[in-house]
Amino acid sequence: MKTIGLLGGMSWESTVSYYQVLNREVGRRLGGLHSARVLLLSVDFQEIETLQHEGRWEELGHILAREASILEQAGAEFLVLCTNTMHLLAPAIETAVSIPLFHIADATASRIREAGMERVGLLGTRFTMEEPFYRSRLEDLHSIQVVVPAFQDRREIHRVIYQELTRGRIREESRAVFVRIVDGLFREGAQGVILGCTEIGLLLRQEDTPVPLFDTALIHAQEAAILALREA
Ligand code: GLU
Repeated sequence: MKTIGLLGGMSWESTVSYYQVLNREVGRRLGGLHSARVLLLSVDFQEIETLQHEGRWEELGHILAREASILEQAGAEFLVLCTNTMHLLAPAIETAVSIPLFHIADATASRIREAGMERVGLLGTRFTMEEPFYRSRLEDLHSIQVVVPAFQDRREIHRVIYQELTRGRIREESRAVFVRIVDGLFREGAQGVILGCTEIGLLLRQEDTPVPLFDTALIHAQEAAILALREA
């Protein structure tokens, strides 16, 4: 079994989910008391969030590159970055290490294709919904069309992520807002919706809506467990 290098803490609320899912998936596949081999480097999210909102992406790139190298030196055989947003810096991380970065959008895309879908909605931070790094990966590499909510809804999703979910606050009112937005995307032709922020799955569950949801934290962790167990 390969050693997974988890680069987490963005926020730690969702890194907890990764750790649980990885261990459960390995246990389910190998049986007995089997669990995942994991190295976890969890950052201080305040520092990250401040730099993000000041637009200091180059500095963030240096920080993540440094943390990724630490995981590589400690023995990680591949990297799992436990946030969608920070995949904006995937190129900076990939240049800094020689082990592979298992991209969250690739893991999610394979599930969308398996479900036979080619047009999906995307919820996430404004960085994820508005910058090209995430959508273009889905569109160009995986031929999946992406639709995002309207401006006011994108603002509200972003606010809920940073003011509530990453602080461990789960509010019924916010769940209702997310359900409304998901239903709207479905009516506009999205066949399913990507929960493209690793904390959204803590708020919105499949049972809250008939629209098929793709929870990136869950999918990324499950697929990482499968990758860790794959022969060479
Ligand atoms: N965890 C979130 C994501 O998946 C947002 C927090 C962050 O900015 O990394 O995008």
